[in-house]
Amino acid sequence: MVAGKKIVRMETTTKNGKGFRKMWRLGFEEVNTSHFDISPDDELVVREGNYQYNIFDIIKKYGTSTEILFPTIIENRVRDLLETFNAYIKVLGYKGRFFYHYPMKVNQNKEFVLPAVAEGANLEVASANELFLVKRMIEQDKFTNRIRVICNGPKTERYIQLIEELRGKGLTVIPIIEDYVELERLSKFSGEVGIRVDLSIKVKSHWDKRFNRFGFTEDELLKLGKIRNLTILHYHISSQVESIDGLVAPVKRALELFSKMKLKNPGLDTLDIGGGAGVPYNKYKNFYSSKNLVQRIVKTAKQTCDALGIKHPNLIVEWGRYVVAPAQITVYRVLAEKDVNNKGKNKWYVVDGSFMNDLIDTWALKQKWHVIPVNNMRNPKLERVWLAGSSCDSDDKYTNGGSHVLLPRLEEGPQFVAFLDTGAYQDSLASHHCLLSSPLKLIASNGEIKVARKRETPEDVGRLFGW
Ligand SMILES: *Cc1c(COP(=O)(O)O)cnc(C)c1O
Repeated sequence: MVAGKKIVRMETTTKNGKGFRKMWRLGFEEVNTSHFDISPDDELVVREGNYQYNIFDIIKKYGTSTEILFPTIIENRVRDLLETFNAYIKVLGYKGRFFYHYPMKVNQNKEFVLPAVAEGANLEVASANELFLVKRMIEQDKFTNRIRVICNGPKTERYIQLIEELRGKGLTVIPIIEDYVELERLSKFSGEVGIRVDLSIKVKSHWDKRFNRFGFTEDELLKLGKIRNLTILHYHISSQVESIDGLVAPVKRALELFSKMKLKNPGLDTLDIGGGAGVPYNKYKNFYSSKNLVQRIVKTAKQTCDALGIKHPNLIVEWGRYVVAPAQITVYRVLAEKDVNNKGKNKWYVVDGSFMNDLIDTWALKQKWHVIPVNNMRNPKLERVWLAGSSCDSDDKYTNGGSHVLLPRLEEGPQFVAFLDTGAYQDSLASHHCLLSSPLKLIASNGEIKVARKRETPEDVGRLFGW
């Protein structure tokens, strides 16, 4: 175990008179880097209260490729979110209550879920297997019955049986009806249910598809009439929504539908606005603040309900990416450098991990990341770099959208690079192209480093394929 060192001195100036801290965009609240800084030895450090972790020292001890999770970041973000919603509810005179549900699919690792739950998160699950983990948590006393669980995704018989089993144990577990088969099957369910609408509204984001197979259309819902034990109207419009308006306009539209459905379903008392709040992966561009976003949501909900003359419903948000993306970084070692033919002065830096395997959205969605050096952070000699992963695939690369990443010129000694904001979605989508081992997963908490998942051995990886 490498103990996090107590801070002895705070850095106030930068060597060479250059603003490297600013250049790497570290220490900025608005882009989620307030915990990050550069040590006097030009190395990346992450602070947690009175502790600080020197990422270079950790990596020298544990090797690469490595993911490092900072649970304190999850705790702070959940706490902040609850406080911000509750503050605006009070200030704006909103009468409904606020519930945060962490969507487990965004990162199901225990070390992500438990800190969120400890800070007051409820849960949203997308499958029977995720709900099975809730059962585990109950059995291990990590979960109390006051926590509520919302169940999305197609309801297989096994899934419904597990919902009924957990309800029998006293848990508030609420299935969200997504189609006519589920509507029929769940008409016998004795607890609260929700129903999902596919709103006819479009927002700017990769995920807002022209055709959507989730939930009922607005017209279909209005024709359904009374639904037994209905308390929640739910929608999930998209992910990484680019503007506040994209998250606020659906609230208004959904509340208009809500007020009509309430005529036949007087028990309907909650609007679940799903996920979608974005994170500033790009630290050089302005991005909306969660404070402004929350204020606009509560204000819009209040004004819309008052205009419609309905009681203010409780509000649920299921923001996943927003809460966990900034809590993890992924670190690689640069193995080799090569010229990029036909691309000016760009160099390839080949790293000892795979974007296609471990940061799969790089490949799937052309996801952009904030990439910074872990050491030599004040080296003024920088290269324009494309990063190449270790698989044999020509798509296994990170080019920052065909532009480049600036990184220190390679000198004597190893060079490590960190990708920020890798906590959302990458882990459960990870794969084993070329049978590369998955990264080691470390947890940095209370000044200590713990191994959460060992680096896979050749035996481990072979076993996955029947060897
Ligand atoms: C994926 C998903 C979420 C989380 O979305 P984020 O964009 O990560 O906030 C929330 N609710 C549902 C129903 C989802 O499918």
